Amino acid sequence: MPPRPYILAETSWKTVAATDYQLAVLPWGATEAHNFHLPYATDVIECDAVAAASARVAWESGARVVVLPTVPFGVNTGQLDIKLCLNMNPSTQAALLRDLVGALEQQGILKLVILNGHGGNDFRQMIRELQPSTRVFLCSLNWYSCVDPKPYFDEPGDHAGELETSVMQHIAPELLLPLSEAGIGAQKQPSIAGLREGWVWAPRPWARVSADTGVGNPAASSPEKGARFLEVVAERIGTFLVDLAAKDPATLYD
Ligand SMILES: [Zn+2]
Repeated sequence: MPPRPYILAETSWKTVAATDYQLAVLPWGATEAHNFHLPYATDVIECDAVAAASARVAWESGARVVVLPTVPFGVNTGQLDIKLCLNMNPSTQAALLRDLVGALEQQGILKLVILNGHGGNDFRQMIRELQPSTRVFLCSLNWYSCVDPKPYFDEPGDHAGELETSVMQHIAPELLLPLSEAGIGAQKQPSIAGLREGWVWAPRPWARVSADTGVGNPAASSPEKGARFLEVVAERIGTFLVDLAAKDPATLYD
C-alpha cells in the first residue's frame, strides 16, 4: 500500500514540509483485555482504522488533516488486577497531551481533535484546563458513540460486545479468535439502588463486574455490521474535520 499522506506515521519529511496542515487528529486508545476473543490492542486498532477512514474522507474533500500516531495507553484503574491491562493515569495523559499540544503550537498547527476509543478515557476536564494556555483549538469525540449505534446492532454492548466485535471482524479478522470461544459479556449490577439506576457514578471494578472481561454479548456480531457502522462513523467524523479545518475557531459562535 502506498503511503497515505494524511497518516503521519507513513509520511516523510519532504511531504510534511510541503503540506500546510490545517488540523491534527490524535487517536487515543488503551491496552486491555477484551473478552476472550478480541486482542489487547482492540481499542488501538479501532482508533487507527476510524481515524484513517475519517481523515481520508476529509482529505478527499480537500481538507489538509494529519493523523498522529495513536496513543496506546488509556485509563485502566479499574482493571489493575487484570494481567497486562496497562493503566495510564489521567494526570499522565494530561502531561502527554500538554507536550504534544506545545509541539503543534510551535509548528503552527492550531487545531487538534482527540479521537477517543476507550470508555475509561475522558479528555474534557483536561481540555478545560489546558485550553486557556494554548492557541491550539482543542476538542474531543468518542468514535463509538458519535453515531447512534442502535440501528446498526441488535445490542451494541459496552466493551468487547457486538459493536466492537463487528468492527474488529471487519478491520482485523486475522486477530480474532472464533466467536465460539467468546464469553457472553454478562455484567453484574451494583447491589445499591443509586448506582444500579445509573444516576450515581463510580468506576467499575472490572474483575468483579464481568467473568470474561467483556460487557455486552458479542454473539450477534458480523463483519457486515461493522463495515456499515464504520462507514457512517467515518463519514460523520470526516465531515466534521472538513468543517473544522475551514473554520477560524475565533468565529465559531458568529
Ligand atoms: Zn475496546
